[in-house]
Amino acid sequence: MISGFSGAGKGTVIGKLLQKNDHYALSISVTTRKMREGEEEGKHYFFRDEETFLKLANEGKLLEYNLYGGKNYYGTPREYVQERLCEGKDVILEIDPNGARQVKKNMPEAVLIFITPPHFDDLEKRLTGRNTETPEQIAQRLKIAAREALAMPEYDHILVNREGASQDCADQLEAIVQAEHLRTEKQQEHINALIEQSAPLREEHA
Ligand code: 5GP
Repeated sequence: MISGFSGAGKGTVIGKLLQKNDHYALSISVTTRKMREGEEEGKHYFFRDEETFLKLANEGKLLEYNLYGGKNYYGTPREYVQERLCEGKDVILEIDPNGARQVKKNMPEAVLIFITPPHFDDLEKRLTGRNTETPEQIAQRLKIAAREALAMPEYDHILVNREGASQDCADQLEAIVQAEHLRTEKQQEHINALIEQSAPLREEHA
């Protein structure tokens, strides 16, 4: 799960990670927020009205969901995530800390990664520069970001996305994913095989 302040550049970093290979599956969220210029239905989000969103939530079709800024709903379609996990893919969820907490409760093996710019003040520049929100919306997103900063200690990894260095950040993200696959608890079969293969030598010395 990847979270980060609005304007941290999560989308760019994730895009670069996805280009690397097809082991990754990015979950496309459902949202009630308006489509931004340059966004596409089914690529960036599934854009739905509130009634449709709440119906999906009530039918248990969302793995988690959150009302962001008290205004727009965002949620993760359950089926897509479950199917891709069954196929052995590394599923990426780009969700806020409230959603990440909900998923972690049900899937303790999930890895939480937080992406931040070097300095909190960089956010305002980035949000203003991308020209997709009004000044009021930017002010609200900065307030939400200030609250989200308090959730950072709950994350397993913190990645700093420096200006012009999103590729470095994507490389670090991939290194984290690879390291997570090498965790001892994920290699139990290999460990058991090596213990079995080495058993004769132990018996010889017994
Ligand atoms: P944006 O409007 O900038 O695309 O997203 C606003 C916030 O909603 C970001 O923090 C983003 O990570 C979060 N978000 C996007 N999709 C989901 C989702 O499916 N669930 C949750 N809980 N948050 C999401």
